[in-house]
Amino acid sequence: MRFAPHATLDVMMITTIQYGDNLIYLLCRERRWTVIDPGSARAVVFALEKHGATLEQILITHPHGDHTAGVAMLKKQYACPVAGPPGDYGVDHVRHDGEIFRSAGTVIHVLGVPGHTDHDLAYYLSAQEAVFTGDTLFAAGCGRVIRGGMQTLWRSLARLQSLPDSTLVYGGHDYTLDNLEFAAVMFPHHDAIRERLDTARRLIDNGRSCLPSTIAEEKRTNPFLLCRDLEAFRRLRTRKDGW
Ligand SMILES: [Zn+2]
Repeated sequence: MRFAPHATLDVMMITTIQYGDNLIYLLCRERRWTVIDPGSARAVVFALEKHGATLEQILITHPHGDHTAGVAMLKKQYACPVAGPPGDYGVDHVRHDGEIFRSAGTVIHVLGVPGHTDHDLAYYLSAQEAVFTGDTLFAAGCGRVIRGGMQTLWRSLARLQSLPDSTLVYGGHDYTLDNLEFAAVMFPHHDAIRERLDTARRLIDNGRSCLPSTIAEEKRTNPFLLCRDLEAFRRLRTRKDGW
């Protein structure tokens, strides 16, 4: 378990909790705390106790166990509601594409970005220019197609690319180095990918995180966003599945 330093954006504090392979995000503004994808309750409780804080809401991007394992215990401990896509993980408020609601003291836009599953959601904080993309978009990568279909994921990635370039991207896992090594093999003459890989290696060697990235950076160096058409995307995603 590793806690990244806090980032303050428009007085929004975003704490990243690395738990195994997963990234759990704690959002706080005006002393209102929200967690996104608590794959572990213990890690979240530990972080909240450090701040003497209580949880107001749980947000889920998609109902896979590694993103929801902490829901039941957190819900019991803090008596807080759970919002997210449909599923049997304890959701109280099913959220849909296009909805706007308040959480963590800010306005959150729900973006339907299926493809990894049938019902993936991303949460876009317009005031803070930050998006939480679950397993749809990662730094230099994207999720596997488990249920949604290649074309569906392709469209969802296009949708995320239409956010402002400066938007900070917080994915559900940090596979950045592996993703960039794959990208460098697939696009061997792409200078920006090579530079990003070198930067990522340097950051990791110094014990620092490669996240968050930005939409601009993803558009420039994410191999899946560089695909010109659906067929190229399908081929690349299939190659990555066997990588
Ligand atoms: Zn998943």
